[in-house]
Amino acid sequence: MTAVEFDAPLAPFTTLRVGGPAARLVTARSEQELLDVARETWADGGDWLVLGGGSNVVVADEGFEGTVIRVATEGVAPVMAKVGAVRVRVQAGHSWDAFVAHTVEQGWSGVEALSGIPGSVGAAPIQNIGAYGQEVADSIVSLDFLDAATGEVRRMPVGELELDYRSSVFKRGLRGVVLSVTFELRDSGPDALSAPVRYAQLAKALGVELGDSLPLAEVRRAVLWLRASKGMVLDAADADSVSAGSFFTNPIVTESFARSLPSEAPRWQIEPEEPDLVIALEPEGDQGTGAALADDRGALPAEYHVKLSAAWLIEHAGIGKGFSLPGSTAAISSKHTLALVNRSGEAGTAADVAQLARFVQARVQSEFGVLLQPEPVFVGHSL
Ligand SMILES: Cc1cc2nc3c(=O)[nH]c(=O)nc-3n(C[C@H](O)[C@H](O)[C@H](O)COP(=O)(O)OP(=O)(O)OC[C@H]3O[C@@H](n4cnc5c(N)ncnc54)[C@H](O)[C@@H]3O)c2cc1C
Repeated sequence: MTAVEFDAPLAPFTTLRVGGPAARLVTARSEQELLDVARETWADGGDWLVLGGGSNVVVADEGFEGTVIRVATEGVAPVMAKVGAVRVRVQAGHSWDAFVAHTVEQGWSGVEALSGIPGSVGAAPIQNIGAYGQEVADSIVSLDFLDAATGEVRRMPVGELELDYRSSVFKRGLRGVVLSVTFELRDSGPDALSAPVRYAQLAKALGVELGDSLPLAEVRRAVLWLRASKGMVLDAADADSVSAGSFFTNPIVTESFARSLPSEAPRWQIEPEEPDLVIALEPEGDQGTGAALADDRGALPAEYHVKLSAAWLIEHAGIGKGFSLPGSTAAISSKHTLALVNRSGEAGTAADVAQLARFVQARVQSEFGVLLQPEPVFVGHSL
């Protein structure tokens, strides 16, 4: 049955363990409950928020003046099998890592490098989760979406999700509830090998070359080990895992800007996208009409973009592992510069987390001219 609570503290439902109460918290345990709760909430008006595992949110200390719809649906159902591949539909509230563990046990490859990422399956496409050379965009076929604008359910094929680096159509403003996600994975039976290893650190941990494949369980074990060494798996015994994961995305800048940075700053070149067609407009105002100039069309020259390491920028701006501002309940993880952690349990505050995040942004910006963007979703406040 749908559980409804009023003035419900949200901190216990987040991995950072900060945040005040929600005016109303509704937990939906079946797809039908989820549909009913969302439609009723939207019909009543007022602010609303969908919450999965709470591992990518920073809720304000003042809480949330609206309805939080907590997705607690579960289940993995096969929808199709063909030679060498399987398709499964997974309920949005299903634990992401439980799903990955299941795929490894079944001998299905495609998400093994995403082992240990906290949170729910329904949230995975929201920021196109990725780690160790894999992204969920590689294996999603479609998802079922309850659109807040229409109240109707539609199946969105992966092409409509606009998945790219930590972003999607949902991050760009499409509002509603992901009900379930359908994945296609390689089915190679009991001796199944992983997808080719595409991340140097993982290849090194496994003692193989980039591009090699290994038994799925070995890759999962190595990923979990690497993640634990950085405080990046949830572990009640590890104070560094009381976080929202990586707090900042790796900045993407133009190649010419990257040249202004110290040569030792790590960088990865990104293939240029199709250049945009530019239609020059006459300037609006006294002289112009804003109309397109027919003879002034052209394509922008393709410029390479470069992804930088946010962790490197932070460290080289003078902020090291374990750093904390005086009197603050928040700190940089002692294992990973990119994670901000709540060191004080129930006494920890979102205000301290936000203050530390702003400090990091300011230091990196003044040192390198790059404004780091937060990866988690801020609820009830902003940076
Ligand atoms: C220790 C740690 C390590 C992490 N490592 C990684 C990593 O390696 N790679 C990575 O990409 N991320 C990582 N993360 C971030 C996080 O785990 C992922 O973003 C995850 O997908 C969030 O899932 P969630 O269910 O907790 O989402 P929540 O935090 O509950 O929500 C996040 C956002 O998604 C929306 N949302 C959630 N569920 C739904 C739904 N069903 N329908 C519509 N919107 C929804 C929420 O409204 C919110 O905007 C890490 C986090 C932690 C704490």
